[in-house]
Amino acid sequence: MQIKDLAFTSLQLLRAAIFDRELFSLEIYGHIIGMFELNNLDLVVASPVEDYFLYIDDRPSSEKEEAEKVTRPILDALRDEYAVICEGSAFFPLQSCMNHSCRPNAKAFKRDEDRDGRATIIAQIPIRCGDEVTISYIDEDLTFEERQAALADYGFICRCSKCQEEET
Ligand SMILES: [Zn+2]
Repeated sequence: MQIKDLAFTSLQLLRAAIFDRELFSLEIYGHIIGMFELNNLDLVVASPVEDYFLYIDDRPSSEKEEAEKVTRPILDALRDEYAVICEGSAFFPLQSCMNHSCRPNAKAFKRDEDRDGRATIIAQIPIRCGDEVTISYIDEDLTFEERQAALADYGFICRCSKCQEEET
């Protein structure tokens, strides 16, 4: 019920933001949120506010002074908060098209040093031309039964090489 309430509030805000009262139903919105949740990837983005202030710093002095009349009170109010990084999750079309394997040959992740909001896909083993690039949607160290249960949310029964070996 709490998640449904959150989805309802989120949909209300989205409708108000784009001035569309007939956008779509809560049920359809719930499906979209669910698909996003199954396909998203955690990421970190550098503070856009800090980028803006750095841009202002690089302006010619007369332009910079004019801009700082507006930005200085904002910067003073924010103190160190202006540089806070933004943590969240994002949907990457290419990564979300990659199929699952419990013995994946690649991994989608965010490196601690990445602040550009990009996804990183890295090969875990040499991948030959023509081989499918697979990632794991779940913790592949779980038992066969636990993996199958975790993958039920994705709507398929895994038949990867690891599952075929472990299925008895
Ligand atoms: Zn599997």
